[in-house]
Formats: sequence, C-alpha cells, structure tokens
Amino acid sequence: MARIVMKFGGTSVGDIERIKNVAQLVKKEVDAGNEVAVVVSAMSGETNKLVDYCRQIAPMHDAREYDAVVATGEQVTIGLLALALQELGVNARSWCGWQIPIRTDDAHGKARILDIDTTLMLERMAQGQVPVIAGFQGIGPDNRITTLGRGGSDTSAVAMAAALKADLCDIYTDVDGVYTTDPRIVPKARKLHKITYEEMLESASLGAKVLQTRSVEMAMKHRVRLQVRSTFAPDTPGTLVCDEDEIVEKELVSGIAYSRDEAKITLVKVADRPGVAASIFGPLTAGNINVDMIVQNVSDDGKATDLTFTVAKGDLQRAVKLLEDNKESLGFQSLMADSNVVKISVIGVGMRSHAGVAQTMFQALADKSINIQVISTSEIKVSVLIAEDYTELALRALHTAYGLDAA
Ligand code: ASP
Ligand code: MG
Repeated sequence: MARIVMKFGGTSVGDIERIKNVAQLVKKEVDAGNEVAVVVSAMSGETNKLVDYCRQIAPMHDAREYDAVVATGEQVTIGLLALALQELGVNARSWCGWQIPIRTDDAHGKARILDIDTTLMLERMAQGQVPVIAGFQGIGPDNRITTLGRGGSDTSAVAMAAALKADLCDIYTDVDGVYTTDPRIVPKARKLHKITYEEMLESASLGAKVLQTRSVEMAMKHRVRLQVRSTFAPDTPGTLVCDEDEIVEKELVSGIAYSRDEAKITLVKVADRPGVAASIFGPLTAGNINVDMIVQNVSDDGKATDLTFTVAKGDLQRAVKLLEDNKESLGFQSLMADSNVVKISVIGVGMRSHAGVAQTMFQALADKSINIQVISTSEIKVSVLIAEDYTELALRALHTAYGLDAA
C-alpha cells in the first residue's frame, strides 16, 4: 500500500465525461489498496473566463476580490468529482483550501503556501475517505481566500504530497511525460523516464510548460517524488521527477529547452568606468524589468564599451523607453533593440563533471552557420541567444549532436 496524491489538470476535468473518467482512475488506485488524496484544477478555460470577468469590471481590480472570483473554478470541480466518485461507490468528500486549511501569505494572486494542517484529513483518510482538494487556492492571514498564481494547482498538489508525506505525487495532464525537447518541433524527441529536480526546474523556468516552476522548487525542497503522466493514456508510464541518486544512467544532457520570450538590447559606447552597470540596471530593476543574459565587451580604448543584455519580449518597449529617457545620465551613444531572438539552452546535471558540453553546442551551431549572439552558463545549463528564424534548425541539430534522437 502506498499513499498517493493524484492531481488532475484542467483538460483532464474539462467536461462531465472527463470527470467521470477521472473518477474511474481514482477508483482504480483505491481498489488497488492505496491511500489516495486528489487535487484538481478548474475545468479548462474556466479560470481564463473568471479572470476576464474581473478585467471587464475593473482593470485595476482589488486583488482580494480577484482571488475570491478566480478561486471558484476549483470549487466546482471538487464537488463534481466527489459526486462522480460517490456514484462509483467510493467514499469521497470535497475540500476547499480554507477548509483544510492551506495557510498562505497575503500576496493575493501569487500567494505562497506557509502551512497545511492535515490532522483532520488524515483522520478521514484512515477511515477510508478520499479527499478531493481544490488546487490553486488557500487562505491568507486575514482569513481571506488567496490563489497561488496561474498553474498553481501543481504547487497545491506537491504541497499536499509533502504535508501528507505521500510516497508519490502523480500529475495527470494532457501530455504523457517530459520530453528531451519540444516534440512538435523535433519529431525525434524522446520521452524521459526520469529527470532530476534540478533539470526539471531549469526547463520549467525556461518555459517548458509542463509544471508550474514553483511546484518543482517545492518538490525539490521536500523531496516529493513527482510523476508526470497522461490522463488519456493512463497505462503509459510517464516521467518521474526525482533525486539524482534515483537515476542510474545519467545522460550528459537530458534536454534542450527554448524560449522565444526574449528580446535583446545593445547599448553602444557606454562609458567604461565603475558604477555604470549599476546605473543602467538600477532603473530597470526599479521598473520591475528582469534582465536575463548580459555581456559586456572589453573596450579597446579603455573609455567606452558595448553592453548587451536580454529582457522579456513583453518588457522590451518599456525597457527601451526607460533607457532612452535616461540617455544623458547613463551616457551611452545609441541603443539597438532586437526582438527577433530565441534563447536555446542545453540542460543536464552530467555537465557538472564533464568538460566539452558547451563546445559540442558551439560546433553544432557553427556547422549550420548559426551565429551566436550571447552566451550564458550555469552549473547545469548552457544557453545561447540566436536569431529566432533558426529555432527549429538549431533544436534539431543540437538534439542530434547530443545523441538524444530516438532510434
Ligand atoms: N485553474 C488555475 C489556472 O488555470 C490553476 C491551475 O490550473 O493550475 O491557472
Ligand atoms: Mg497546469
């Protein structure tokens, strides 16, 4: 017998037939003798609809009322799933975040979970009851409903798994696992049987939208074993996100991620003196603009140098305006902006102990005559910025170069 948290995303509970199908999957685990807790999202499209309602009434809405509205999608699905389970003869009951309670901070719209009291739930589970828990929501310090940010029900599921000390947290979704890269672009992409927390965290933050980034952070912190699997092919094994020790055959590179959400800014002839970087990035930080990759050239005359960095595409216009407005004080000659770029990253814990991973990347891109504009590295990742038009060519070339192609 194992204790399992089963989480179902929006498409998995997208209509009544699908909710009935989910009830069957839950019943199967219960019949196998497992102790099960279920976490669900809202029916697909519901949260978007609720967010839109708020915007229509008040574009600058009160975040507490926004949470009161958008948290309701999950209340519908927990009730419906509990009913569907009862119809199958399974003893089930629904739980809203506040009923458990899942306590969060007061950052409405992106609240963080602080504490979960599982006493009552564990008592019920011991009596054979299956809790059906609303994802995405909690209760703040002043007893008001909070939500955890879009995609937050993944985080709810991991937090419940940690609090219940579950053996496994199964994330049922509309894809059947985590792939070496985007299979829509690289048909030879392979499904990974296992991936480490660290690698999953890198790919999640780079925009592989399988799991909310925060959920992976939390799984890593609490060592929750996570499995990504398909609701629509439940017999197909998914991908296990786990500790490095659990992976016997480590690949040098486990995946290649890309993000089109990048734009490049180059400041030409910036004064080469102490404090310049601080004075340039200060206003951007103050404007809540995140800077990602940065390169600064060596100046040949010791007086002026070029500075290149990237920001999110959506922030480009604001960033350019902020910089142009401060052109005098920042003392650069001109500014060039380019949103036709993509960031491609190779990720793998294996590169901690192996040299040459970056070189393989550079050579593979050179062989395709793809120019690298910016490079950045971390312990388990090498990223390059290239022209967006080459995204597909680069992904395919790198996938082959690292020996990731499916046989
Ligand atoms: N229903 C919420 C959303 O659409 C939470 C989730 O599905 O994870 O963002
Ligand atoms: Mg999701």
